[in-house]
Amino acid sequence: MPCLIPFVLIATARQNVAPSSFGDLVSFDAKRADRSASWCGMDAVGDETTKASALEAVEQALAEYPDKPLRKRLRNVFVVNRLWTAKSYFGGTVSDDRRSILVAVGDGKNREWIESAVHHEIAHLLMDSSGKAFPRKEWLAVNPERHVYPADRLGVDDLLSGFGDKTYDETLQEQGFMNRYGSANVSEDWATFGETLFSKKTDFLDAALRHKRVEAKLLIASRFYRKSFPGLWPDVEEQKPPLGSEDASRGEAWQEPVRRRENRIMTRLPSSL
Ligand SMILES: [Zn+2]
Repeated sequence: MPCLIPFVLIATARQNVAPSSFGDLVSFDAKRADRSASWCGMDAVGDETTKASALEAVEQALAEYPDKPLRKRLRNVFVVNRLWTAKSYFGGTVSDDRRSILVAVGDGKNREWIESAVHHEIAHLLMDSSGKAFPRKEWLAVNPERHVYPADRLGVDDLLSGFGDKTYDETLQEQGFMNRYGSANVSEDWATFGETLFSKKTDFLDAALRHKRVEAKLLIASRFYRKSFPGLWPDVEEQKPPLGSEDASRGEAWQEPVRRRENRIMTRLPSSL
């Protein structure tokens, strides 16, 4: 029965990992949340059931990051019912001081959506709080030549109404963008990559295997995440972006997405196996 061996190893590894708890970072206080983000409106989560399941989903997402490095960057996750501007509702944002994130969990948002939103907003927070350390030049160099992000000069409402589509789009992936939302501006471009790096879906990794520009951005993002959160994905080795070195290094460059996918499958197996 050769298949028993890896299962035993996985079960042992899981027992050795201490679960992180970030419950103290999560706040349902809508008044504090409102003071933290001056540009939008919001209201409080009303019922305890929604609070309990949202807390679980947020904690699950935060547990993906190493404890100290995350706490160094993130002060609070404010969970509210809805967030809005004058024209639209939206799912999340970063606080004015770039130290906290806000996530709107009302209207029946499910666990998967909430986890994704947390990763998406942490990606924004990471970019916004990194200043010159953020690899902007390297990132923009992956885009097609003379590419201009269409929403760079648009307001937030234009962004939300015109670029709300988060469906993975093969034509855009060929150009290095995950979806229409991510093609709007550099900030959303980065955040859709950050979000999908932590996603349980394999679409992103499959796209990386098919599209050179997506792969290049994946590697830049993976490197910057590991630099910013020391201890994140410890078994992923340092690799150079493959753009411009398509032949010999290509085989090696594929290793990282594959390893990530393997890790993801392993760590998500139920411990009762
Ligand atoms: Zn965003």
